[in-house]
Amino acid sequence: MDKKDFEKLKGTVDAFQSACNYISQMAFNKGCFDPIALHALVYQKVRAIFKLPAGLAIQARNRVAESYRQHREKLHTFSRNSMALDDRLFSLLRSRDFTVSIATIKGRVKSGLVLGEYQRKILEKPVKSASLILRKAGLFLKICVAYDVPHKEAAVPVGVDVGIRKLLVGSNGFTACGGPFMVRMDQYESHLQTLGTKGTSSAKRRLKRLARKELRWARTTLHQISRRFVESLKDGEYIALEELPETKTSDIGKPCKCKDHPAAFRGWAISRLLSMLSYKCAGAGVPVVYVSPDFTSQRCPRCSTIHKNNRRTQALFRCVNCGFQHNADYVAALNLREQARGGWAAVSQPHAVHKGVDCKPLGSS
Ligand SMILES: [Zn+2]
Repeated sequence: MDKKDFEKLKGTVDAFQSACNYISQMAFNKGCFDPIALHALVYQKVRAIFKLPAGLAIQARNRVAESYRQHREKLHTFSRNSMALDDRLFSLLRSRDFTVSIATIKGRVKSGLVLGEYQRKILEKPVKSASLILRKAGLFLKICVAYDVPHKEAAVPVGVDVGIRKLLVGSNGFTACGGPFMVRMDQYESHLQTLGTKGTSSAKRRLKRLARKELRWARTTLHQISRRFVESLKDGEYIALEELPETKTSDIGKPCKCKDHPAAFRGWAISRLLSMLSYKCAGAGVPVVYVSPDFTSQRCPRCSTIHKNNRRTQALFRCVNCGFQHNADYVAALNLREQARGGWAAVSQPHAVHKGVDCKPLGSS
């Protein structure tokens, strides 16, 4: 790509980001967050001020409306150097070794792509949308393609417990330990905390670089674990994950950088792992069911007794009734599997079904 085209694309990404911040300010000031109402409020002004093509003005409005869908208490600012492209703003020409055509504020720009064999193969599939990302290293294009998911019949559930001490434990015996992961996460968190307190600007830059490195490592590790687990599943198996509150699973992006919440990164790692499991299973045609996590750490998989003392320590489960003993995370995975099989028919004590009630072991009352 020549310098002129690069400047056109860069200028458009900058204009898109400024437009998002402008729309966000308008939406917040007027308390108007509905995409259609917001369109009437800002569309003409955005076109006139930022000279964005119609499609990009709509994409900017969509990004702002989506951002305010859940949290509307404070003004949202947009600092990501990226813009969303639909099939009118972006097209992929396969005939001439993968060339893309992208709409900018100064007409369309055509450019070749730097691709490996893996990407070339994927790009043979129908393209759905893309986003253009501006980084220090240059311009990057993230392209979404559609592909057929194999349909598999599955009747055998595999319970999956995700956590920090053991990142992933499956009822099929798959285990991924969290030890090295915890060490790296502690390093990441301490970098963030130091960043938030003091330091010269060069020290801050160095810490930021280190924190980004930990983050990349964490992401890669989670990808590897989720892929290995999905590969460990046999034909006819599906997975049962615990249902987490929407607030946890919807916040899938970067970890919270707030220095007051160092534990946020752990929550991020878990929700990220759950999200990876869910889409990797979808890609492999493995169904995923979500079951209630209630009492999964307190229920004995052998005799069904639910008691808080069954969980002796973070790692050890020993049933107060029958003495069944195993790793606590593995027990949770077994219980999730049981939930998927149709619930806990054996647990019929009336005081066992309400959350927060101290449950007695079977036969003790
Ligand atoms: Zn038991």
